[in-house]
Amino acid sequence: MKIDIVSVFPEYFEVLNLSLLGKAQAKGLVEVTAHNLRDWTHDVHHSVDDTPVGGGAGMVMKPEVWAECLDELLGFAPPSQCDPADAADGADSVGWSEQGGRLAPNDLLAQNGPTNQANQDGQTDRISQADDCRPVLILPNPSAPLFTQRDATELSHAGHLLFGCGRYEGYDARIPAYYRGRGVDVREYSIGDYVLNGGEVAVSVMLEAITRLLPGFMGNPQSIVTESYTGQDALLEHRQYTKPAVWRGMAVPDVLLSGDHAKVDRFRRDEALARTSEIRPDLVEALDCSALSKADRKT
Ligand code: SAM
Repeated sequence: MKIDIVSVFPEYFEVLNLSLLGKAQAKGLVEVTAHNLRDWTHDVHHSVDDTPVGGGAGMVMKPEVWAECLDELLGFAPPSQCDPADAADGADSVGWSEQGGRLAPNDLLAQNGPTNQANQDGQTDRISQADDCRPVLILPNPSAPLFTQRDATELSHAGHLLFGCGRYEGYDARIPAYYRGRGVDVREYSIGDYVLNGGEVAVSVMLEAITRLLPGFMGNPQSIVTESYTGQDALLEHRQYTKPAVWRGMAVPDVLLSGDHAKVDRFRRDEALARTSEIRPDLVEALDCSALSKADRKT
């Protein structure tokens, strides 16, 4: 899997050379390159931001700089060299049209919504073939749909991921709309209901969730099969214990020492169901009932 990351702080991603992801890179499973967005600027200050149109606090990331960078990394010719329909004046092709003499989004939400919604509603994944080489552009955004294990699983089948880290008040809203209009698979994701200073942490979170699912990444492939949010029912995992059997007066559940695998499996399954109902009732509500056995229903 090829991974490109664009950020104004590319040094942030040096940590990706550590631990399991570092090993995966050394084995050639993933090739990660962090780029500095400022390399695509042309002014002496290397500016990537400007004041918000319409006023307000903070700065917004400029579309021109992002576009030069993304065009190059996506292998697109700059607009002046492509079909006139794709150029800036072919505004309809990117979902923008003239309104009172100005460019305005046709319906930004209608464009952005269904893309990620498809995953959350459990509809067909768009990356169905392993090693699909079409690049997927991933833009972290706190006001986008939540990134889930299901998205991580789907994206682990992509051949090329291109992450763009926002900063300041975020990136100009025309960037994702423009690349969708040019046929790119653009995903905007939030990693949680809070606001971070920049996209670097969000990208690291998504990147780790995706790459650990790559075949050959984990020492023991079984360890990713039985995890929380995984599999047909996507429950939370049961609790885990190691030796000693009694620690500071606290004993592990007897059944785990019984050696009876069927009983251990039943105990763990019951615990997963009970914990999920208590901690994440939303996951139980979303449960596909066909994933539940008769014994599960008793829990
Ligand atoms: N003005 C934005 C808002 O209120 O929604 C917040 C911008 S934030 C300070 C700057 C950048 O950090 C965003 O463009 C995004 O790339 C990243 N970011 C912050 N919080 C995030 C989250 N919860 N999930 C994903 N990305 C996030």
